[in-house]
Amino acid sequence: GRGFRPEGTRITFPNGVVVGGEEIVVMAGPCSVESREQIMLSAKQVAAAGGQFLRGGAYKPRSSPYSFQGMGVEGLKLMREAADEHGLLVITEVMEISQIETMLPYIDCFQVGARNMQNFNLLRELGKVRKPVLMKRGIAATIEETLLSAEYVLSGGNYDLMLCERGIRTYETATRNTMDISAIPVLKKLTHLPVFGDPSHGVGIRAFVPPMALAAVAAGADGLLMEMHPNPDKAMSDGAQSLTPEQLNELVAKLRQLAPVV
Ligand code: PEP
Ligand code: MN
Repeated sequence: GRGFRPEGTRITFPNGVVVGGEEIVVMAGPCSVESREQIMLSAKQVAAAGGQFLRGGAYKPRSSPYSFQGMGVEGLKLMREAADEHGLLVITEVMEISQIETMLPYIDCFQVGARNMQNFNLLRELGKVRKPVLMKRGIAATIEETLLSAEYVLSGGNYDLMLCERGIRTYETATRNTMDISAIPVLKKLTHLPVFGDPSHGVGIRAFVPPMALAAVAAGADGLLMEMHPNPDKAMSDGAQSLTPEQLNELVAKLRQLAPVV
């Protein structure tokens, strides 16, 4: 709870970017790293829009084993190079314990995906590393379960943890998931951890990402994790929910004018 850190946890990254401070932190980039050209261009566009982190999956949790599974370590290297070229930090998903060591030299933040929020062995290992972790809420996880999963990381001694609402499964089918905006102020109240919103997976449809991103910030989010692709219609994963570079640019400009209310 907040008793531990009434001011809230602040995480300072190597280039001085602070999560949990005054500024809304923007993490953006493609769902998957697809090629050198694609990630280089993405990094340039994220930096131009005013983002601080380059996101992109190298190990992908795809629903089908026949879908593109990611570039692996080659993807990590490309992300690092692209991010460094444009002064960005790297966040990317870790899917299993054996990937942690491999990833450490290339990344600034581990992302735990919704499907792995209850992979307790993975969480326990991430509690032992000295590198920040952003943990997404599970696909059908309650707030209570999300907090208990967070404890697996924290109790191992890694206090640099961020939580992320990315939409939950409901009866609604008009959107990919139901973005639970209320989770943001609730989590902010119940924990001292920075809370992010991921409106891309939250709604699954490009046109609805900007309003939900603004809603997340208005609800008190410390940052946003969003998908953007240089050419969303050609994306190898999640193109329908990926913003165009122009949309990201416009959105970041708007959210810089919004003051969080919580
Ligand atoms: C992603 O960020 O691309 C991703 C797979 O997200 P989630 O774990 O929320 O489905
Ligand atoms: Mn995705």
